[in-house]
Amino acid sequence: MKRAIFPGSFDPITLGHYDIIQRGISLFDELIIAIGENTDKSYMFDLQHRMKFITEAFRDEPRIKVQSYSGLTVDFCRRVGADFILRGLRNPADFEFEKAIAHTNRKLSEIETVFLLTSSGKSYISSSIVRDVIRNGGDYTGLVPETVRFQGIPGKKDT
Ligand code: ADP
Repeated sequence: MKRAIFPGSFDPITLGHYDIIQRGISLFDELIIAIGENTDKSYMFDLQHRMKFITEAFRDEPRIKVQSYSGLTVDFCRRVGADFILRGLRNPADFEFEKAIAHTNRKLSEIETVFLLTSSGKSYISSSIVRDVIRNGGDYTGLVPETVRFQGIPGKKDT
């Protein structure tokens, strides 16, 4: 059984993440979307919301699971029996950053990191841009899966 995790903050999930997950699942038998919980970080969406947005976006795909974790990503991989980490690459800056993390994870474990390039037209999307649009009252609906908007946004009325 080829099991991979796709780790991230997903604050919130975007169409960029969605694209990597949909294409990534074809490479593995099971993909666990691993939502990182870092107590030093403050999030726009609490864990419950971040989890719900993702679970609902992939409710029709039983091979995609959602879990939260804290601590080292490689330790989480061992706990869930995953041999692969899936990551998305948007640009050269992502590559440099991801390369260092992948080398470190490889030093700490046997786990391989598999990279997928962003589909064209999605590479400019990031959770931080989405949060900025939301904070400033802009139309974020073209940047995220439908489940994000139907759940409402903190401090805003549900649509
Ligand atoms: P992190 O806190 O690890 O940066 P993110 O939730 O921002 O978590 O991203 C998780 C993963 O999704 C990373 O591999 C990141 O490169 C990838 N990703 C984020 N946005 C996009 C996008 N627009 N296209 C492709 N991959 C993306």
